[in-house]
Amino acid sequence: MLIRKKYVFDTSNLQFLRHKRKWSEKLIRFSIGFGMSILLTVCYGFIFHHAFGFPYQEKLERRVEEIKLNYSLLERRIDYSSKFVADLRSSDNNSYRAILDLPQIPADISEGGAGGVFKYGDLTGYVNTEMMMAVRSKFENLRTETNIQYNSITELSEKAAEWKDMWAHLPYIRPVNVTMRLGDGVKFREHHPVLGSPRWHFGQDFCCPLGTEVHATGAGIVYYAGNQNDGFGIKVVIDHGYGYRSIYGHLSKVNVKRGQKVKRGDFIGLSGNTGISSGPHLHYQVDLFGSHVNPLWYFDDNLSEDEYFKMLDYLSKP
Ligand SMILES: [Zn+2]
Repeated sequence: MLIRKKYVFDTSNLQFLRHKRKWSEKLIRFSIGFGMSILLTVCYGFIFHHAFGFPYQEKLERRVEEIKLNYSLLERRIDYSSKFVADLRSSDNNSYRAILDLPQIPADISEGGAGGVFKYGDLTGYVNTEMMMAVRSKFENLRTETNIQYNSITELSEKAAEWKDMWAHLPYIRPVNVTMRLGDGVKFREHHPVLGSPRWHFGQDFCCPLGTEVHATGAGIVYYAGNQNDGFGIKVVIDHGYGYRSIYGHLSKVNVKRGQKVKRGDFIGLSGNTGISSGPHLHYQVDLFGSHVNPLWYFDDNLSEDEYFKMLDYLSKP
């Protein structure tokens, strides 16, 4: 390394003498040089950063943008799922829950509100805290809504199974294939056709030829089959559960035994004229928790004879 040496002219000796610097002068010169080099480094760094940026920082910034984009996509997906769950809830409320007589689920079940900042304390202090809190809040709401919907579907399927079983058991068809030939319904008779005395008639009479097939009007267990000498002659009583019993009186023959399980449409006996009866007919009675109800309330009698047979065919299928 070339070291520059400084000389001074000594007029007394008429010769050049080497100039020796003092320590303080050397220190000042070194400090100035050092300071200048730091200043230059900072300047170059500043210019370079603004012109090109630091590669590592650029990478981090890109990563932040990518995370923000992912958050935004996630938020859109959560919004879409929330709308889907809300549509399901609306459909359940307006159809299934209404039909199955279940209480409505409130439309607004969101958890939002002022509690958010305190609930998501772990998210405070970041550049994008607000965005992260908003997304988490939406996600929490979606989770709550999904849980409520899941419970609702479970409740609906249990209720539907219960109703399906009940519908199979209730006395929902007419017992014989005769249309527009109804006899007396539920009414007070001033003169009983056989006894002559005033008496209530607690069923529906169907005028039909002797030996007409009689069918169970709902699923159940045969509670009685035979003649109890109670005026009904040969009769069948079916216990349908849910408080319902159906009684088929004045039969000529029974086709079932006590304790036998029957389903809707099963052939249980033939009509006749036994017991206190003024002519061939079927006495059909429905009791609910021991009280007599009008059997006509439970079925639509508009089926033609052909339609009735088709229905029996359908019901006889396993
Ligand atoms: Zn009757």
